[in-house]
Amino acid sequence: MNAAATAGPWGRGEAVQAVKRTVLHVARALGLFRLARWITRDATRVLCYHGFNMADEGRFRPSMYMPPELFAGRLEFLRRHGFPVLTLSEAEARTREGVAPPCTTVITIDDGWYSTYAEALPLLREREMPATLYVTSYYMDKQTPVYGMCVAYLFWKSPTRRVDLSTLGVPGLEQAHAVDPADSGSAAAIVDTLIAHGENACDQAGRERLLAALARLLDVDLDPVVERRLLSLVTPAELAEMSAAGWDVQLHTHRHRLPVDMAGAERELADNRARLEPIAGKPLTHFCYPSGDWLPAHLEVLRGCGIESATTCDPGLVYRATERLAMPRIMDTPNMSVIEFEAEMYGFADLLRRTVALLGLRRGRNA
Ligand SMILES: [Zn+2]
Repeated sequence: MNAAATAGPWGRGEAVQAVKRTVLHVARALGLFRLARWITRDATRVLCYHGFNMADEGRFRPSMYMPPELFAGRLEFLRRHGFPVLTLSEAEARTREGVAPPCTTVITIDDGWYSTYAEALPLLREREMPATLYVTSYYMDKQTPVYGMCVAYLFWKSPTRRVDLSTLGVPGLEQAHAVDPADSGSAAAIVDTLIAHGENACDQAGRERLLAALARLLDVDLDPVVERRLLSLVTPAELAEMSAAGWDVQLHTHRHRLPVDMAGAERELADNRARLEPIAGKPLTHFCYPSGDWLPAHLEVLRGCGIESATTCDPGLVYRATERLAMPRIMDTPNMSVIEFEAEMYGFADLLRRTVALLGLRRGRNA
């Protein structure tokens, strides 16, 4: 559950994007992509995905949901361009033994959304490609829409432009008599209040009641969201099917949060392991930071919990010297054009990113 956009070496804006794409096409024509691939051949490419479009989720959170046909195109690219796809466990083991194939590629999919099972599994199976699935287990147990995502979705989907939320009985919303759900500033703060209240002050039944009341007020039909499992996670049986298909099930915390204190982190990982290890049938030692949020203090905590590798949402390739408990990934989104994806996979984007960072560092030192 992370909406982090791809942070490339360039900024945003359409003109900048057009210049960027032109530069990349020229670089590729000059053979610089192939050169970058050779220079970065020992680095592992860890691709990151979240959910896959089943209905209108892609319009709700474009950076989180891949259209299945675009994902299929990415898989075809990997096959045509000879990027060997391994699970993270296998890639790490082979890297340790010094026998990883050049340009080893890992497909990681975060959270365990139902759409991963419904949309991504068939596409990967067809091509005999494995994936590593980081699963957060609380809502896998509950089989209801993920509360925080559902609150945000209801606001996005609401056709009303004026709603009274003061009747919800949520502290902080006593004066919310006339809220415009489409107003990005004020609505975002209210969404945050509702999420914090649901997560910190309600039990599961209370959260479900709150979602139902909110859906009524916002004039959104919650039934299709529940029935089509648009914002729900896989069931243990579906996860077992993916594990049996050769997918690498790994850790993502039980409640999608990683406290910095040892006791809190241990509890999150122990609860997550207790749900997932019986399904995976092996000890789980690979981890993905919820929302990609990590602090240097986490490294010691994770080491203490027996975690061998942890992935972030920071952009980059994984070199042999990269800290294993803070591994960057390639954050693939529908906004990434084919040439940008190619630049990432060939290592050209990362070399450029590292060059820009190095120049910035020098400039900083000289200033
Ligand atoms: Zn997540």
